[in-house]
Amino acid sequence: MPDPNGFLRYDRRLPARRPVPVRISDWREVYPPAGEELIREQATRCMDCGIPFCHDGCPLGNRIPDWNDLVRTGNWDAAVESLHATNNFPEFTGRLCPAPCEAACVLGIGGGQPVTIKQVEVEIADAAVARGGLRPRPVPAPTGRSVAVVGSGPAGLAAAQQLARAGHAVTVYERDDAIGGLLRYGIPDFKLEKQHIDRRLAQLAAEGVQFRTGVDVGVDVTAEQLRAEHDAVLLACGALQGRDTPETPGRQLRGVHQAMAHLVAANRVVAAAGDGRPALAVLSDGTPIDAAGKHVVIIGGGDTAADCLGVAHRQGAAGVHQLDLYPEPPQTRDAARDPWPTWPWVLRSYPAHEEGGERVFAVAVQEFVDDGTGQVKGVRIAEVSVEKRDGRRIVTPLPGSERELPADLVLLAIGFEGTEQQPLLEQFGVRRNARGAVDARPDWQTDADGVFVAGDMHRGASLIVWAIAEGRAAAAAIHAYLGGVGELAAPVDPARQPLAAR
Ligand SMILES: Cc1cc2nc3c(=O)[nH]c(=O)nc-3n(C[C@H](O)[C@H](O)[C@H](O)COP(=O)(O)OP(=O)(O)OC[C@H]3O[C@@H](n4cnc5c(N)ncnc54)[C@H](O)[C@@H]3O)c2cc1C
Ligand code: SF4
Repeated sequence: MPDPNGFLRYDRRLPARRPVPVRISDWREVYPPAGEELIREQATRCMDCGIPFCHDGCPLGNRIPDWNDLVRTGNWDAAVESLHATNNFPEFTGRLCPAPCEAACVLGIGGGQPVTIKQVEVEIADAAVARGGLRPRPVPAPTGRSVAVVGSGPAGLAAAQQLARAGHAVTVYERDDAIGGLLRYGIPDFKLEKQHIDRRLAQLAAEGVQFRTGVDVGVDVTAEQLRAEHDAVLLACGALQGRDTPETPGRQLRGVHQAMAHLVAANRVVAAAGDGRPALAVLSDGTPIDAAGKHVVIIGGGDTAADCLGVAHRQGAAGVHQLDLYPEPPQTRDAARDPWPTWPWVLRSYPAHEEGGERVFAVAVQEFVDDGTGQVKGVRIAEVSVEKRDGRRIVTPLPGSERELPADLVLLAIGFEGTEQQPLLEQFGVRRNARGAVDARPDWQTDADGVFVAGDMHRGASLIVWAIAEGRAAAAAIHAYLGGVGELAAPVDPARQPLAAR
């Protein structure tokens, strides 16, 4: 029986972030562990609602009130079990998820203080490591069926673990030199230190999952070869086609890059630092892309832009502007627009924003300015209004509002246009739809029989929690397709959408 008065006795509290001057001098995670006393106090705030709306916010169907109560009573081993019953990788979601469960928590109604669900989650996940490590689960006798998983992000890895635990032989193919998808080289260490991925991979390997890195499916191995070697294929190649702005004058200048190029180069330097290799971020052709001493302009307002901001601070940028096309959102939920328990449009400030830089809202880039040598020296912006007409976005500059910002490095973080156009698609006989994603039938198969799809490749650029949910559900469908015994958990179907008011 949970404490019915916990939320009256305790306010919502999170552990203090590491001080800004300390944390921007290294790449370690921003949040220190919460400590048992704080986390048990916060778990006590959960009311174990008759209808736990937090469940509806989370596509994984996490048993949130159950593990809150287990933490409250100090029953950590059972909390670890309960958490892993619905989520293969709570150490990732606990660190990285924007927590739609908290937006849906009953304690958040009317501007109240939701339970710190995500913090409780990460503390349980870390307790699992502290209390004996991520032990491999015993796997059943081999079924004799084999599955190829293409792409090693959270969707591919969740599916791989589920299928291996059902007795299938699973091989994960990844074109990069390391496993993890965006978790590995997209998301910086100050949000997710990479030992968390490595620990989990050791568990998957011990459960029988085979990993093959440096294999670009469609190039190094054909779809035909893969289909001949395996009984089913799961495509989990992400949505990595970065949106560009080719029509903006000056786009071709040196120093104007896709945000992902910057993040991947920076994360590779951090990964290599253990080997004592040099510290300046460069592209694979040697082009410098480091922010050290530079005026940086980041275009975009989402996760990718905030990650570039945090990286620029740690690289020692002289100054950073982050530009957003839209006006500054409100600080609190506008209930008329986004009623509880939906995901609200509010100003989202990441730890990187606390570290410096200036956010500029309701502006659009008119031109990247040449210094006369083909290198960018500035960004000319104008204030704009944005409206939707007939489903189209109309951006109108305000006359006389133009000004120039200094810029030696410009990073485009303006979103993704779906999965990349690559040889693998045609070889497997699957097509990108109008959103650049790959459609799935209700059983997660693509247009090609025996070829399944999950994660960002199916959904479009989304969240880790959705990637894991889709990976689990696609694994359940593959298990059924292979005639496996019993059913695996399938938290979502391909048509499932986040909670929304309209
Ligand atoms: C910079 C950034 C920060 C983000 N931060 C957050 C966050 O804080 N919280 C959050 O919830 N979400 C965040 N996201 C979104 C989240 O990372 C993605 O939704 C999630 O990683 C999608 O998982 P996935 O498995 O579908 O694909 P991905 O993680 O993209 O993995 C796809 C993998 O497929 C591989 N691949 C592609 N084609 C081939 C091929 N032909 N052969 C072999 N391998 C191939 C790719 O190399 C890649 O490793 C962020 C995204 C970005 C870009
Ligand atoms: S909605 Fe909030 S208070 Fe209710 S069970 Fe979920 S976490 Fe606990």
